Amino acid sequence: MSVLLPGSVVNGQPAPLGVMGGGQLGRMFVHAAQAMGYYTAVLDPDPASPAGLVSHHHIQTDYLDEQGLAQLMQRCAAITTEFENVPAPALLTLGAHRFVAPGSDAVAIAQDRAAEKAHFVKCGVPVAPYAVIETEAQLAAVADDLLPGILKTSRLGYDGKGQVRVKTRDELAAAWAELKQVPCVLEKMLPLQDECSVILARSGTGQMVHFPVQRNLHRGGILAVTEVNPGVIAPALAQQAVDAAQSIAEGLQYVGVLCVEFFVLAGGQDGGRLVVNEIAPRPHNSGHYTLNACDQSQFDLQVRTLAGLPLTQPRQHSPAIMLNLLGDLWGPGGEPPAWDQVLALPGTHLHLYGKLSARKGRKMGHLNITGATPEAVRATALQACALLGIEPF
Ligand code: ADP
Ligand code: MG
Repeated sequence: MSVLLPGSVVNGQPAPLGVMGGGQLGRMFVHAAQAMGYYTAVLDPDPASPAGLVSHHHIQTDYLDEQGLAQLMQRCAAITTEFENVPAPALLTLGAHRFVAPGSDAVAIAQDRAAEKAHFVKCGVPVAPYAVIETEAQLAAVADDLLPGILKTSRLGYDGKGQVRVKTRDELAAAWAELKQVPCVLEKMLPLQDECSVILARSGTGQMVHFPVQRNLHRGGILAVTEVNPGVIAPALAQQAVDAAQSIAEGLQYVGVLCVEFFVLAGGQDGGRLVVNEIAPRPHNSGHYTLNACDQSQFDLQVRTLAGLPLTQPRQHSPAIMLNLLGDLWGPGGEPPAWDQVLALPGTHLHLYGKLSARKGRKMGHLNITGATPEAVRATALQACALLGIEPF
């Protein structure tokens, strides 16, 4: 791949970088790319998409539209993705003519839970006990000790969608029918002490850097809080997570920013053991704190990997907590929360994604809190929670 230096001019414009998908992750990528002087183009059918609204170019077509893809290629020397469900054929088309990172192979694996788990096993990284269910015979052959479990569709699940918790074989059969018998994975329900994730970036030359391991709290299957301080995850465990994430990335010959999510098991013999959950082939909600607490953000690293620039190990300069801001916090008529009160607290950084209507469970933005000490950050975060009506943690 070639290097696309910031400040280069291509076809009379600052060098343009492209992104498939116009959600909030694309928006923050666009912000980072533009800060370095790149032009940007976003392909997303939604005229009001968060990234489309701030990009130099917004191609408003379907992801598989040939003309749309041709326009994106004509404008951009290098193209990335911001959500994992970009159709693989679209990435293949783009990849035949342009530098695309991450590549369609890696994205295809992340799009399919069964392929993803097989990759983890191949890399020697422990996973929750699971079975692939694609046929009646496989359903019948499920081992009893996978119950209680969680039945997850192999494809297109996110934020806990496409998942059913099941206790018995009857519930399992009913759940698979409810999911229209699409290919699924049944995972054993594990007792969790914690959840954590690692975000790394790998360059086209195989150079890898990573952020500190962050602890994540999910509510209702959606990330609610991320906390990142030294010691929040025991150092030995954090090192295991980083090693596992690196071998997963290496095994994929991955180029770009990758998030690897883990469970830390609770209780008994397995207490404290690390199990990989899933990967996201892009920046991740759990890495949004890097915008304010690190000397480079996950989006800066996405720009660097796409432009073929060198990577340097990012440094966290402040303890941090991120609170996800869901549409639930908005008033019945769409009134925003009392940001004036929240922003009166020290070290609060508000990021809203420009979405016009707030729905329950919709990610509207996030609030990063930084401070001199973990205790100060936590105290401020709890004050913000009280003002916003977020359950304390
Ligand atoms: P999504 O793609 O929606 O993020 P995940 O597989 O990450 O789906 O599941 C969402 C959340 O559900 C996890 O972060 C975790 O809190 C819980 N969960 C998922 N699988 C298990 C499991 N096997 N045991 C216990 N909790 C789980
Ligand atoms: Mg997840």
